[in-house]
Amino acid sequence: MKKITPRKIKKTGTTWDLTKFYNGDDDPGIEENRKAVERKSYAFINKWKDRKDYLKEPAVLLKALDEYEAWKRDYGTDGDAGYYFWLRTQIDRNDPELKAKFNKIEEFKRRVENDIQFFYLRIAKIPKACQPDFLKYKGLGKYRHFLERIFAEAAYMLSEKEEKVLNLKSATSYENWVRMTSDFLAKEEARVLLEDGSRGTKTLPEIASLTSSNNKKVRDIAAKAFNAIMEKHAEVAEVELNSILGNKKVDDELRGVSRPDLLRHISDDIDSEVVDALIKSVSGRFDIPTRYYALKAKLLGVKRLRYHERNVEIWDIAGKYTYEKAGRLIHKVFQGLDSTFSGILTGYSKNSQFDVYPRKGKGSGAFCVYHLISQPTYILLNHTDKLRDVLTLAHELGHGINNELIRARQNALNFGTPTSTAEVASTFMEDFVLQEILKGASDEQKLAIMVMKLNDDISTIFRQVACYTFEQELHSEFRQKGYLSKKEIGKIFQKHMASYMGGSVEQSKGSENWWVYWSHIRYFFYVYSYASGLLISKSLQYSVKKDPGVIHNVKEFLSAGLSDSPKNIFMKLGIDITDITFWDKGLDEVETLLEETTVLARKLGKI
Ligand SMILES: [Zn+2]
Repeated sequence: MKKITPRKIKKTGTTWDLTKFYNGDDDPGIEENRKAVERKSYAFINKWKDRKDYLKEPAVLLKALDEYEAWKRDYGTDGDAGYYFWLRTQIDRNDPELKAKFNKIEEFKRRVENDIQFFYLRIAKIPKACQPDFLKYKGLGKYRHFLERIFAEAAYMLSEKEEKVLNLKSATSYENWVRMTSDFLAKEEARVLLEDGSRGTKTLPEIASLTSSNNKKVRDIAAKAFNAIMEKHAEVAEVELNSILGNKKVDDELRGVSRPDLLRHISDDIDSEVVDALIKSVSGRFDIPTRYYALKAKLLGVKRLRYHERNVEIWDIAGKYTYEKAGRLIHKVFQGLDSTFSGILTGYSKNSQFDVYPRKGKGSGAFCVYHLISQPTYILLNHTDKLRDVLTLAHELGHGINNELIRARQNALNFGTPTSTAEVASTFMEDFVLQEILKGASDEQKLAIMVMKLNDDISTIFRQVACYTFEQELHSEFRQKGYLSKKEIGKIFQKHMASYMGGSVEQSKGSENWWVYWSHIRYFFYVYSYASGLLISKSLQYSVKKDPGVIHNVKEFLSAGLSDSPKNIFMKLGIDITDITFWDKGLDEVETLLEETTVLARKLGKI
């Protein structure tokens, strides 16, 4: 097997340069690093595991946390060797030797993880009455929110023994159920009409994607096949869903949780009042998606769209964007916003932190990855010269910029982003780059791009909020009735889908079972974070467009990492995200895009 050695990687410039770690997969430095991680980890573990003083005296806890932070900064549970092999497996997925090396380090990592977790588990057990002494202690200021996060989660934890029972039972009472439905669906195939006019057997995800084809015959046949598969599994999914709703109810009662979505909010470090304001604000503006679908039906020349037609791409988007061209365009936009942003792009490029093109053995999609605060960030792309690829590059760079700003300002315990705001920087950069692209486009091209953008924004904001309210009703109905039939689940599902789609999208026969396929609802209430990320981003875009100086606030927010809750970070910048008018600003941006799209469609005689 031909191996891509890091030395060769460096030459090309569009693949990751991993030589700053090691000279190859057999570099003796790898084993040396593993040993160093072991030494440092067990030095910490052995020093603190039998002590109790750090749980009583703030000054001692400060000392322990400083040491913990230093360990997490340079070593963590797997050090450079773990990061290196993880990165290597992403660009060379089929090499069994590499996989074996990665697994070995993973095994080592789990051992360290298990042995060191006593530290924060015991901090979590500091009695409630004593917690303020630690939170108020001046020296612990830099770790205040780290402690607050641990204490918040601990408030709903049961005794060690009870937690153990819940943990041991969770595979049979929750995970296996969810896996069963998804495994059944993964095995499904059907013969459908393909884009090229032939017929072929396709898997469920492939069929799902064909339901959005711009060839009507293709999408209608795919939808029929999709509906048949959902119908076939609805009965089993009914029992599965009722079981996991029941399991969640029991857990919530044991923990004394007041509302089904509370633990999600706590683990995401977001206040319930912020999520409530978001849901209320977005639900109050469902006229936006309703008007969009009416426009879309007109553009397609039909009275009503069928349920599966709401995401149909009406036109192909033309234009070739080489990686170099995309880079230049993005650099220009970033430079216009703030030179720190363009500087980060230049730095990544110079240090070969991008892996740009698709190739055999490399994973699909795109991501931006970071690990320890002392290690560089890397971006993986699969650039194929399409407009989408430019936006993807801007998106991942947004994550990268977010990382670098946090790295510059925060300690290792605050290095990261809460789920609720993880997508702010990425969508912020993506939208500004899209506006630059629109500037140079013809009217026809512009319309195609704007419709594509509305498709995405509406799915991310309104559909996810409708899903959230669907989940809320599902849990509350279940808790009242004790069991929900597939018919009842389907009815609740269609009610919430219709609430944002409006009268121009039909809740077609068969679509009442599409919840069978919706895996998000099995993981409970996290879909709000798609909407919160994009809307915070849009609200910030609106403010920056009005006053470019506001970019300073954006940078402050992006530098904060996990140092405080999103609510408090914004509060310090004079922005109240518990106020529903904050969310309205972002929603206004979507409405403006809808209005501009309607005017352009009229101008071009499309409606
Ligand atoms: Zn992202």
